[in-house]
Amino acid sequence: MAEHQVDEVVEFLAGARRVAVLTGAGISAESGVPTFRGNDGLWKQYRAETLATPEAFERDPVLVWEWYDWRRSLIAPVAPNAGHRVLAGWESLFGDLAVITQNVDGLHAKAGSRNIVELHGNIWKLRCTREGTVEENRNTPLPRIPPVCPNCGSLFRPHIVWFGESLDPVVFDRAYGLSEACQAMFVIGTSAVVQPAASLPLAASRAGAKIIEVNIEPTPLTPQADYFFPGKAGEVLPLLDRRLRDRRPASGRERPPDRRA
Ligand SMILES: [Zn+2]
Repeated sequence: MAEHQVDEVVEFLAGARRVAVLTGAGISAESGVPTFRGNDGLWKQYRAETLATPEAFERDPVLVWEWYDWRRSLIAPVAPNAGHRVLAGWESLFGDLAVITQNVDGLHAKAGSRNIVELHGNIWKLRCTREGTVEENRNTPLPRIPPVCPNCGSLFRPHIVWFGESLDPVVFDRAYGLSEACQAMFVIGTSAVVQPAASLPLAASRAGAKIIEVNIEPTPLTPQADYFFPGKAGEVLPLLDRRLRDRRPASGRERPPDRRA
């Protein structure tokens, strides 16, 4: 990580009020959440791509719920990492900080973030397939599979955006608005190539925001980012955080007092 780039970013952030953060699977993986993709996602003989679909749920809701119950049991004991904790702390450092996440594991909330936009839903929430109502449920294992809505008796489904489904337009509009309004956008632990999430840093950049990418390896976004910090969120963010908090304002005591006053 180039020192002059850290200086520049810290200097810029010191004067920024509106900051948006886009996070993806990478920051969760650092905490030990499996990606549930490829070999990581194998459960019995099934792959995530064949279970996280409306068709799979239509065909066999018990099977889909057993899979989600297993995923919930793996995620339940996972703790947020230093990257999550720094982002939670930044809510009091910046006037307006929002975390837009593609993750469904709830780790940002567990770390203490409150201003969170969950693009793909949340694995700890259930949605009534008839009424569309959403409720939180943290039981692992679920006492009954499939869970049903106590109000109308219809099946609950995971409150998650599945393959082949569109993002909730209200949720996405909020994320887009935050992206267009921010002065700086962090892109953390995501290759940001999957649409429509990929459009968020581009919208921010078009609107004049600085794009600060934190990923282990360069991504297709990197050429368009103003800054690229290679590394783990749990290492890069605490470093930036320390520098930000150490930075004294220009009126601080490094400057000799103006005796003419
Ligand atoms: Zn219902």
